[in-house]
Amino acid sequence: MKTKGAVLWGVGEEWSVEEIELGDPREGEVQVQLTASGLCHSDEHLVTGGTPVASYPVIGGHEGSGVVTKVGPGVTGLKEGDHVVTAFIPACGTCPPCSRGQQNLCDLGANLLAGTAISDGSYRVQARGKDVIPMCLLGTFSPYMTVHQASVVKIEPDIPLEVAALVGCGVTTGWGSATRVADVRPGENVVVMGVGGVGMNAVQGAAAAGAKRVMVIEPVAQKREWAMEMGATHAFANIEEATPAINELTWGRMAEKTIITVGDIQGEDIAAALSVTGKGGRAVVTGMGNAMNIDVKLSLFELTLLQKDLQGAIFGGLAPRNAIPELLSLYQEGQLKLDELVTTKYALEDINQGYQDMRDGKNIRGMIVYTDADR
Ligand SMILES: [Zn+2]
Ligand SMILES: [Zn+2]
Repeated sequence: MKTKGAVLWGVGEEWSVEEIELGDPREGEVQVQLTASGLCHSDEHLVTGGTPVASYPVIGGHEGSGVVTKVGPGVTGLKEGDHVVTAFIPACGTCPPCSRGQQNLCDLGANLLAGTAISDGSYRVQARGKDVIPMCLLGTFSPYMTVHQASVVKIEPDIPLEVAALVGCGVTTGWGSATRVADVRPGENVVVMGVGGVGMNAVQGAAAAGAKRVMVIEPVAQKREWAMEMGATHAFANIEEATPAINELTWGRMAEKTIITVGDIQGEDIAAALSVTGKGGRAVVTGMGNAMNIDVKLSLFELTLLQKDLQGAIFGGLAPRNAIPELLSLYQEGQLKLDELVTTKYALEDINQGYQDMRDGKNIRGMIVYTDADR
């Protein structure tokens, strides 16, 4: 079918909203009519070249929600009309990592950057006659996508689809970084560095886990204010301001847990995070850096002698098939804020404005919302 999508033709280019050809579902695949797609920083890494892909063009978007409109052969557990949220790492449920409860490390993730379909290694999207790589095997910057059943998670139909998209990436990543990977315990001091679409949910997760203090380090004043409404107890503009204050608040013990959720992580951020993490504490690296950057700064002396723990995290260490429905049920019970995270809604055609607003620090999350006019 012919539809449209935001396509990137090379590093440093703008997103081009243009006609695309979308294939029908093959073995194990479904077609989804999308309701919403978040503007996550990870797609920006395609624009900067920080995330390498096998080739261009690429269709962006990996944080989406929608309704199943077509079902291919061999699909189990999904039917037309089902409401789904995307899983940016496929979660097959049967490979070794999935079987030991680490769906966020599913072996099907090996296809992620190659961009070829899980089912048969081909492509479902063409633009200007060329094969298009879908971001994270999804491509939610289009009113429709054809994806493998491992890449979507069914949700309850009474949950508003617009907010449900958020748990496809940012919310779950931030929440799990605090509750699962950092393993925040009641009474702990937690530092969250960077409070955008991911960090704001690390704040929510840390507060829900019972942290005594959730201390945010964020250069944008408006985001510091928002963080205080989402559960932060203190907010600082930078590490220089934060360090003496955290030292005083904790009587020199510093934070038990620090979560790095800046949009484009640099080597110095590791040193800063470890410097505000106390003895035996843990720093969690959630923010994404450039794939070529191996220049990490940290005090090797302190790492050893103060027995600090430096831990990476993808999708907050959580399993999409478990965490997505669970977080949406927390939202329904009023224990997780989602509506407050969507700062601005955009039409697909305004995607470049949406990303400019993200760069300018104006949004917690910008959200593309599709309407009948897009279909
Ligand atoms: Zn994302
Ligand atoms: Zn798997």
